[in-house]
Amino acid sequence: MFLLEKHRSLPAYVPGDHEEGEGFIRLNTNESPYPPSPGVAAAVAKEISKLGYYNDPDCTQLRRALAQRYGVAENQVIAANGSDELLYFAFLAFADSGHPIALPDITYGYYDLFAASLGIPLEKIPLREDFTLDYKNYLGIGKTIVFPNPNAPTGYAIPLWQIREIAKSNPQNVLIIDEAYVDFGAESALQLIGECENLLIVRTFSKSRSMAGARIGFGFAQAGLIAELETIRNAVNLYSVSRMAQAAGTAAILEDDYYMDNCRRIVEARDYTTRMLREQGFEVLDSLGNFVFAKPSAMSAAALKAQLRERGILVRHWNQERVRDYLRITIGTMQEMQALDAAIEMIFGRA
Ligand code: PMP
Repeated sequence: MFLLEKHRSLPAYVPGDHEEGEGFIRLNTNESPYPPSPGVAAAVAKEISKLGYYNDPDCTQLRRALAQRYGVAENQVIAANGSDELLYFAFLAFADSGHPIALPDITYGYYDLFAASLGIPLEKIPLREDFTLDYKNYLGIGKTIVFPNPNAPTGYAIPLWQIREIAKSNPQNVLIIDEAYVDFGAESALQLIGECENLLIVRTFSKSRSMAGARIGFGFAQAGLIAELETIRNAVNLYSVSRMAQAAGTAAILEDDYYMDNCRRIVEARDYTTRMLREQGFEVLDSLGNFVFAKPSAMSAAALKAQLRERGILVRHWNQERVRDYLRITIGTMQEMQALDAAIEMIFGRA
């Protein structure tokens, strides 16, 4: 009724089905199957009595913990309410109707929505036929660029030297590398921020650190670029990282070995899942994320998704050009992936 005309055609983001627990194995939203580390509950509980007071807008403790963990200065770190918020701030800061954003045609779906809501035109650059990203397409493009590395939902990463080339060839524009999935085996571009003043690395606690529901994102860049993002955060939502989130994130970083061990388990389960699906006749991309992108041969991806759901297993499917033959399957525990194996055997009638 009151919504501006220009917002009426905003596409809906379709999240993965959200059945909580209730017997479902959730392999559809790239969450972690493991709970947060033991120190997180105590740290969050300690904040409860202080909820009457505003949280620290500078996220001092969390940023300090992250700076120490990653060997950067505190003013090279920003925290946000999930990496989605940080990405939104970056879009708001660096692009508008006269300053488009370049990105791959197959990638994380929220970039489209952020851009649509802000009136930012997108230049979608097709991935190669085999879903790999050709970095040469981004050289000297003269636009803000964003993509995840590894990309979603393919799981393919490009090497650091290619990221460096893209950054160096677009000195007037920001290159946003979304490292939501970097802890599962890809190389972080963090070491490039010293030499690339236009590079922004975006990270999250939602995948490798088991806290999608806490909404904690963070970013690394040179201090000047971080200060520019803080200008936006200050104007839009200064207190966006709650007391509980700041405490949870800080406690988690102090127990980081726990999360890195879980990442190793997930990588093992990913290798198992890739082999298993190939044995079941799927085409499977070699993913560096906590998910695999796989094309079944025995039936359509949409039909298999529906049949898995009937057996209590949720996976992700997009009814979109280029990807509708594929399912994106999040890597859970080994036990969950064995349950997936058994369910597929049953569905394909081989059990
Ligand atoms: N980037 C990518 C590539 C993602 O897949 C996701 C989550 N699905 C996000 C960012 C957002 O993560 P969050 O806001 O939970 O940090």
